[in-house]
Amino acid sequence: MLFSSAVAALALLASGAVEARSVPSPLEIMKRTHVAGRVITKCTKSGVLALAYDDGPYQYTSSLIDTLDAAGVKGTFFFTGTLYGCIYNQRAAVKKAFDNGHQVASHTWTHPHMGSMGAAQIQSEMEKVEQAFVNIFGRKPAYVRPPYLETGGQFLSVMTQMNYTVINDDIDTGDWNRNSPQQSQQLFQNAGASGLGHIPLMHETYQSTVTTLTTWLINWAKTNNLKIVTVAECLDDAAGMYKEGTFPSNGATSC
Ligand SMILES: [Zn+2]
Repeated sequence: MLFSSAVAALALLASGAVEARSVPSPLEIMKRTHVAGRVITKCTKSGVLALAYDDGPYQYTSSLIDTLDAAGVKGTFFFTGTLYGCIYNQRAAVKKAFDNGHQVASHTWTHPHMGSMGAAQIQSEMEKVEQAFVNIFGRKPAYVRPPYLETGGQFLSVMTQMNYTVINDDIDTGDWNRNSPQQSQQLFQNAGASGLGHIPLMHETYQSTVTTLTTWLINWAKTNNLKIVTVAECLDDAAGMYKEGTFPSNGATSC
């Protein structure tokens, strides 16, 4: 299906019958195909910082969005379906993240060890999140960060088939391992602000990450002339955050 539509797009573009804007360009399609299934740890350009928060939606999601919005910056939320309660109980926060222009991406349905799962189970973990996002804000994600950053076993081949861009990190803040915000900040200062933009591993389930560390990072970015952008934008793929097309809601409101 993707192949045939890509061929159709090529044929139409070759005939000059279609404006580039109305379909993804063949180059764009090939770029995405190339990216899918490869593990990305950093931005592809300098001058940017991609704040990426795992494990929500959680009780701090809405206030974290307010903090990012007040600073005029965009974050990326890797949401699960059921890790801290059912995602449908947090519909408002999930939709707020999407509506306010933040990137809403997948962190799997149940937060399992994907590296030891079969292909069908992996696909199911992804499809349940896709359906929840469709039900809540009408789009399917094109980005995933695997729990525990596990990319072994069948995971990458299934992600290639499903056309997902796979994100890891280049700075682990260690918030999950009881690092204080000050210890995390030191990691950014050690890594520096030059070179390709950072994609840190951090969790919106720790209040100190959502408040102290996030505020410090917003100031650190300002001081160092870094623009805080979504993960997709830091990869020059702002148009590729979500899968093409519209999808029907299945009406689910519970997990
Ligand atoms: Zn996680």
